[in-house]
This record gives sequence, structure tokens and C-alpha cells, in this order.
Amino acid sequence: MGSVKDYFSTLGRGIYSLIQGMEVTGKEFLTPKITEKYPENRENPPVAPRFRAILQLEYDAEGNHKCIACGSCERACPNGTIHLTTEMVDTWKGTKKKRLVDYNYDLGSCTFCQLCVTSCPTAAIDFNNDFEQAVFTRGKLVKKLNYLPEKPEPEPTAEERAKFEAEKQAKIEAAKKAAAAKAAAAKAAEGKATEKE
Ligand code: SF4
Ligand code: SF4
Repeated sequence: MGSVKDYFSTLGRGIYSLIQGMEVTGKEFLTPKITEKYPENRENPPVAPRFRAILQLEYDAEGNHKCIACGSCERACPNGTIHLTTEMVDTWKGTKKKRLVDYNYDLGSCTFCQLCVTSCPTAAIDFNNDFEQAVFTRGKLVKKLNYLPEKPEPEPTAEERAKFEAEKQAKIEAAKKAAAAKAAAAKAAEGKATEKE
């Protein structure tokens, strides 16, 4: 008789346990999903905008970037991830200017600390959240961020050139006046010294 009692007791516990399990399953069935089907929905994966996937040089609609080749990002990087190649070019004002040739970035050694981004004085670089960056060889992790051809130095407009020439002439005139005043003052001082003698 005892064994029949045990049998029904065990059966009752089993059924209770089954109901509890079904309760959890039912609750999870009705809870909004937080997992995503991947790669089925790779076209529109819900990645947070602030996720740092890869560094990029930002281009505007005309294909211009804001990098002035100052090297600040390269110096700020603790891992030697950024390698810049630059050159000096002549500007229409007759001065020299540093210009970007190659901006190389090694994704394989980047720790996504963002020091490069925060050190940039022109906000030329930022991280995008394109998380699919897997490649088959390490060499492919080295990216050239300035992927568009670098543009030549812009030619000045007629107004810019006229303004520059006017300013240059004004500086020359001011320098001449200052030199003449200095010479006159020196001459006057010399005259006074002669009178005393
Ligand atoms: S995020 Fe950090 S490690 Fe990566 S390139 Fe920038 S400074 Fe270097
Ligand atoms: S990306 Fe910014 S910090 Fe780096 S070289 Fe260009 S301007 Fe300088």
C-alpha cells in the first residue's frame, strides 16, 4: 500500500514540476525578444550608435575630409596603431603646408580607447559601428582611411587674392613707416648729442 502512495506522491511532484517548467516557458514565450537572428538580419542589425567598430576618416558630400596632417592622433595612440605619411606643399600665399598622403590604421592593434578621436583638433576622425570586420588575414586589418584621392591645394578666388595682396601691401607700408620713424628718432637723438658738445 505504501508503494502506491509513493507512486502517486512522485507523480504529483512530477506534474507540479512540469507545470512550473511550462509556466517559465510560457512567460519567456510572451516576453519581447532581445536576441537577434544573425546573419539573417545582417541588413539592419540593432547595433548601438556609440559602439566602436572601426576608425574612419569622415568625408563630406564633396569628398573632402578635415584632416590637416597634424599627427596628433598618431602621437596620442598608445599602441602605434596609426601611421601617417605626409608631405610639405606650397600654398598660393607662398607659405609651406603639411598635407596628408596616407592615413594607415591597423584594426588588429586598436583597443578602441578613442584617444585618437579626442585628440583630433578638427574632428576629422570618428568610430563607426559597422561591427562586421572579420577578415581572413592580418594584413587586411590594415586600412587606408583616406581611400579617396587627395585633392590638390585649392586655388584662391579673385577676392581672396586681392584681399591677401592688400594686406601684404599694408604690412609693407607699415614696416616702411616704422623704419622711417625709427631713423628720424635716431637722427634727432644724434643732433641733440652734437648740440651738447
Ligand atoms: S582608439 Fe586608441 S588604440 Fe585605437 S587607434 Fe585610436 S588611440 Fe589608437
Ligand atoms: S586625423 Fe586629426 S589629429 Fe589626426 S592628423 Fe588628421 S587632423 Fe591631426
